[in-house]
Amino acid sequence: MSQLDYKVQLLGSIRRIVIKVGSAVLSDRDGLQAATIEHLAEQVEALLGRGLEVALVTSGAIAAGRARLGRRGSSMAERQAAAAIGQIELMRQWAKAFDLRKRTIAQLLLTHEDVAERRRRLNAVQTIRALLSAHVLPVVNENDTVAVEEIRMGDNDVLSSLVADMIQAELLIILSDVPGVLTGDPRKRPDAKLIPLIMDPEAQMRGLVAESAGPLGSGGMATKLQAARQAARAGITVIIAPGRESNAIVAAADPRSEIGTLVVPARKRMRSRKHWIAFALRPMGALALDRGAAEALRLRGRSLLASGVRDVHGNFRSGDCVSLLDNDGVEFGRGLVNYPAADVLRLKGRQSTDIVRVLGYKLADEIVHRDNFVLLDETV
Ligand code: GLU
Repeated sequence: MSQLDYKVQLLGSIRRIVIKVGSAVLSDRDGLQAATIEHLAEQVEALLGRGLEVALVTSGAIAAGRARLGRRGSSMAERQAAAAIGQIELMRQWAKAFDLRKRTIAQLLLTHEDVAERRRRLNAVQTIRALLSAHVLPVVNENDTVAVEEIRMGDNDVLSSLVADMIQAELLIILSDVPGVLTGDPRKRPDAKLIPLIMDPEAQMRGLVAESAGPLGSGGMATKLQAARQAARAGITVIIAPGRESNAIVAAADPRSEIGTLVVPARKRMRSRKHWIAFALRPMGALALDRGAAEALRLRGRSLLASGVRDVHGNFRSGDCVSLLDNDGVEFGRGLVNYPAADVLRLKGRQSTDIVRVLGYKLADEIVHRDNFVLLDETV
């Protein structure tokens, strides 16, 4: 099947779209490009005019701040200072472009904690929902000025896929400065070709890592595919499209036109809670399992019991997210753990009936309950 066949099937009845615009689309050495922002706003407005709901995730704060400062400091504090300066400029330009169209916009600056911590996540979702129902355009960026390394999301590609899942969007459009996902790095391989359709973003990612080196192979495109993989697991269609091409957004949302790379979503939408465990939380440690336990989780949908734990890594607390490693040390799943690291260490290899005797208390029979477990490598 072609990209168009999939588009007709997948985009026929969409309601809600997240559009991510990268810094390279919006800016050049002189800072933000008003004409580009203007044209993107015109296209977003066209979708809104058709009754679609749209949330925008925009980068460009750091680029704008650096252009204004006239220098490119690369320390954390300098990046944050640039973001603090540039965020105002970024929003000023978006607001100006939408004011012309009588569209009110709203700013949301999120850190990783805002999407990971359930209460804050819920608040952010409710705010975005309220904005959408008031026909206001939510404009999201990472809160770069306060996001120190440990709580940074890192890039807006991943942020946009988390937002798309949080608000149950059906389509995520990632606008970049390349035509889409290519067969190789175009600066090294002039014959690199656009891949119009990706069924398995994970396999594609492995290819890119092998290609390696260069910002396109190791950074830019890899994070886009990572974001696409996460969104695909949530049942969201992803289109990676050339943001500087005229009418790229309109074409991406149009089932009758082919543009960029379409990543086909999983047929079965991963429940939002499982998506949160798999992709929004950060593992605080890892449990190495024996073959039998890994198989029971992977193939039979069982919970993890103490008897299947071979080794414990990290210093997690009860309720934290941990990685689950198979017999070869490969991470195959993640889950919320019922006991702190020190206690799992004491329980490893024991029977569940021993828990009270070993610990002097019991929170649960399982180390990780099946409801709090998610398989990472399930084919989409
Ligand atoms: N949040 C950053 C900015 O607005 C960009 C991060 C990214 O490009 O992924 O400058």
